[in-house]
Amino acid sequence: MRPVPFLDLRAQLRSIRPEIDDAMARVLDAGHFVHGDEVARFETEFAAWLGADHVVGVGNGLDALRLALEALGVGAGHEVIIPANTYIATALAVSAVGARPVLVDCDAAGLMDPDLVATAVTDRTRAMMPVHLYGQAADTSRLGRLASRFGLALVEDAAQSHGASDGQCLTGTVGHAAGFSFYPGKNLGAFGDAGAVATNDGLLAEKVRRLSNYGQAAKYVHIEKGCNSRLDSLQAAILRVKLRNLAAWNQERVRLAAIYDELLAGTSVRPLPRRPGAGHVFHLYVVRHPRRDELARFLGDHGIQTLIHYPRPIHLHEAYRELASLEGRFPVAESLSREILSLPMYPELGADAVRHVCEVIRRFGA
Ligand SMILES: *Cc1c(COP(=O)(O)O)cnc(C)c1O
Repeated sequence: MRPVPFLDLRAQLRSIRPEIDDAMARVLDAGHFVHGDEVARFETEFAAWLGADHVVGVGNGLDALRLALEALGVGAGHEVIIPANTYIATALAVSAVGARPVLVDCDAAGLMDPDLVATAVTDRTRAMMPVHLYGQAADTSRLGRLASRFGLALVEDAAQSHGASDGQCLTGTVGHAAGFSFYPGKNLGAFGDAGAVATNDGLLAEKVRRLSNYGQAAKYVHIEKGCNSRLDSLQAAILRVKLRNLAAWNQERVRLAAIYDELLAGTSVRPLPRRPGAGHVFHLYVVRHPRRDELARFLGDHGIQTLIHYPRPIHLHEAYRELASLEGRFPVAESLSREILSLPMYPELGADAVRHVCEVIRRFGA
């Protein structure tokens, strides 16, 4: 059996190469490289795909979250509630606007636990930013109710959840705003850095658009201290091609995940539990095992590449040393970080590779 990489972006490119070549040639020939027609079209198409009123393309996912918070007026002296189990960017977006990230533990599925949110609210709390981690919607209906009860903004970190649903709406359309990342390995990925803010609030969209483009209201009219975080035309043109395939790619991820589920049943490896009713798009296929490091080594020795999402919760990163004293306060996130493992998952992976991975896991034994 050939080695199984964790992710193979070249396989996806092969499947759409002629359309990508055409799209890139179109941008080169137009000679317009930042913002412009391709970006406007991508924003409209992605908004329609999501069912959101507005999408604003920005430079990356971290900036999308940061600009959403800034546009909502979150800043110095404020607190933002985020899950302890997430990628560092969620916390960095809060720190970037001068606010303080306040962590809450996750549930067994790895998602922010709504039961714990109320205890984290203080009179400085301005927003909560749940993460639709691994491609699965956090409990946005309950979180939305909590947000209204406490008068908080709800910003969704949708960087891993393009096309995931909470049972009713797609993630990224439920809160006041959402940040998407189009980092190459995401379910919808560019060929470089890219991101977007989605919102149903037209004024908020305009504010994000302005902040991301030097605070410019009209050419050389700067009404606030913005930054430069724009989506380039090449990435937008590439994303437009890929968006047309996103639903089919997500479907294939779901199909492969079901094969994993079936073949892992009865082994010592357990997939993380799923939220009933949530439409998972399996950005990652995450399992749990008490001897995780040994399992990862065994798979690696058999040519199967795995990763860990994430090996540390936010408060145990050196960058957040001021939160280090909270060790032990988020027991679910801490135990997940020691036991979770992400198996290979991408639409072009193929059922045979999934069967092979499960076969090797069977040989790993108990
Ligand atoms: C990828 C990711 C981000 C950041 O996106 P970038 O485009 O890399 O800046 C934020 N949050 C989560 C959960 C992510 O997975």
